[in-house]
Amino acid sequence: MAKCDQGYLCEVCGEEVPNISQSDLYLRYIIGEISSRQLLSAPERHLRCNPTLTQFIVDPKFPEVKAEGAFSKAELDPVDVKTKEALVTRGWQRLQEVRSLGIPISDYPLEEFRKKE
Ligand SMILES: [Zn+2]
Repeated sequence: MAKCDQGYLCEVCGEEVPNISQSDLYLRYIIGEISSRQLLSAPERHLRCNPTLTQFIVDPKFPEVKAEGAFSKAELDPVDVKTKEALVTRGWQRLQEVRSLGIPISDYPLEEFRKKE
């Protein structure tokens, strides 16, 4: 299980992603966007390096990220934005706590996205 604590290099900025609490990949796994298989093969990114997704994290503990252009949430339907903010923020909050829970990676996703494999 040591692998999940090792830093991987961010595809965007090339710097190390020191742990999963800053990992875009694990966040997307928690919110059901990618499968556990993709989790092992997809490139790693910092949360701040994927503003298209992480602009939806609304939490005083997370430094605000802004996406530019067509993918900016300012351009999107406000109802969709609210829905997405609720999901991604909940996912981020779970991401901050999962490592301390001592649970298997298959239990990381939010309850509605957890699958029996
Ligand atoms: Zn990065």
